[in-house]
This record gives sequence, structure tokens and C-alpha cells, in this order.
Amino acid sequence: MILFKRAGDLTRWLDQQRLSGKSIGFVPTLGALHAGHISLIAISKKSAGVTVCSIFVNPTQFNDPRDFQKYPITLEKDIALLEQSGTDVLFLPEVTEVYPDGTSGLEHYDLGRIETLLEGRYRPGHFQGVCQVMRRLLDVVRPDDLFMGRKDYQQCMVVQRLLELRDMPTRLHRCPILREQDGLAMSSRNMRLTPEQRQKAPAIYKALLAIRTGWLMGHPSKTGLIATAMKTLEQADFRVDYIEIADHKTLEPIDGGPGAVALIAAFLGEVRLIDNMVLEMHSYEK
Ligand code: AMP
Repeated sequence: MILFKRAGDLTRWLDQQRLSGKSIGFVPTLGALHAGHISLIAISKKSAGVTVCSIFVNPTQFNDPRDFQKYPITLEKDIALLEQSGTDVLFLPEVTEVYPDGTSGLEHYDLGRIETLLEGRYRPGHFQGVCQVMRRLLDVVRPDDLFMGRKDYQQCMVVQRLLELRDMPTRLHRCPILREQDGLAMSSRNMRLTPEQRQKAPAIYKALLAIRTGWLMGHPSKTGLIATAMKTLEQADFRVDYIEIADHKTLEPIDGGPGAVALIAAFLGEVRLIDNMVLEMHSYEK
């Protein structure tokens, strides 16, 4: 694996690879890597000639400064995992390399309604930060294919919008959610949970499964499904930001019909976890 710290060096190296006919696959991350991240690398490696992973804890996407300060950093382990997974390139820039002109006065993106819903509503400014860093990373890597996780369902929609706004030919692939044995969605934030909280955390997955079962059985009322999910989470000591059943293409709330996705964001102590589940038979998980 080749490690680049400078954007210009990476761009030049990738230009060479493109000239020799290789396609570029890209997996952007915040580090503290786990098997979910590595699954994206594996999917990229199936089709891309060169797989690039970036690790950059982007300050502009953290609306809560404590969350930024406490974001786990496990660089040595990350590098070992990436080596094992056969990643070709790691891009590991400093903040000044990503934002050479500083972080104030960065472009504002017109994301439309999506920025006012769910994560957009509860984390003001978060998706602007995501777009700022993704724009820069995409300009540096110029990938043919971009691999992101459906765990961050709304983020995938925002990045697709960014690609369209910027008229970029990069194809976005939304990859499946990897879960622990007990159903908890893998997340770098899980390592901040105490052992007791970790035991309670799969309540999010249980709540999503119950919503899906109720929805597929013809749910007497959406409100009832959400109230039951709320009870499940509160019994496990979660503080809920939102539980929503929404249209899978727009994330606007819906009461019925096909094409729904259930999304949850909730705190266990100081740790905020998100998860989602498409409410379709064909996506039935264990
Ligand atoms: P992060 O480092 O949390 O920003 O995640 C980097 C990428 O990995 C994003 O596209 C995430 O959606 C994806 N990702 C995070 N957790 C998982 C997971 N459990 N399964 C699959 N992809 C994931």
C-alpha cells in the first residue's frame, strides 16, 4: 500500500494509473476502521483497478465539538487492516492539505429539502461539512466509482446530490450495512460505549426489525409502530433524536405504501448511534 499525505502527489500518481487504463475506486472514511469499512474496500477491489481509501476526521462536519474531540483514532490498526485488505493507496492528509485556505468561507451547497430532514434537522451544518470535504476529496481522487455505506443512508443521498450539482461522472455505489452478531450496526462510535451500554445497543436493531415486521404485516398505525420502537429504545436507556418511517427516495415521512425505510438516531450516554432498515421483504435481514 502506498501512503500519500499530499493531495498534489496523489492526483499526479492517479493520473499515471488512469493513463495505463486503470479505473479508480474510492472509499472515504473518518478512520477507526472496522469490518464495515473493509467491506467497502472489498467491493471496490472487485471492479476497480486501483482502490484508494482516505482517512480524514473532517472538522467541518462535526456540529458537536465534543463529538469531534472524542472521535476515536486508531491509525496503526487502521493501516494494518488496510494492508491486509489489499488497499492500494491510503490518503492521509492534514487539515491544511484538505483546506489550504482555511475552513471559513467554504462554499455553501444547495441541498434542498434533504438538508432539513432527520440528520439534517438534528445536526445543523453537518451535511454542508460532508459536501465540503467530499468535494475536495473527489477533486483530488477523481474516482470512477465511489463506495459508501447505506448505514449513512441520508449521507449517500447528499453525496449523490453533490455529484449532480457538480456534474461529476463518478458513480456512487450504496453498499450494505455490516452488523455485529447481535445486530448492532458496526460503527467507529461503538468503541466509545461502556460494556454495559454495548449490551444495550442492539435495541436499535430490534426496534427496526419490529417496525419492519409490523409494516409488512399491514401495520394498523404508523404512530403505534413508532411508539413501540420508542419504548424499546427507552427501556434500553437510549435518548431518541428521531424514529421515522420515510420514503426511500426523498426521506419525507410516509404512512404506507411500498418503498419505505425506517431510520433511527439515538444517544446511549454521550454516544450518538444511527441505523436504518429498508421495509421490504427482499431486503429481509436475519
Ligand atoms: P465513517 O468512517 O463512519 O465516515 O464511514 C466511512 C464509510 O463507511 C461511510 O460510507 C459509511 O457509510 C461506511 N460504513 C460505516 N459503517 C458501516 C457499516 N456498518 N457497514 C457498511 N458500511 C459502513
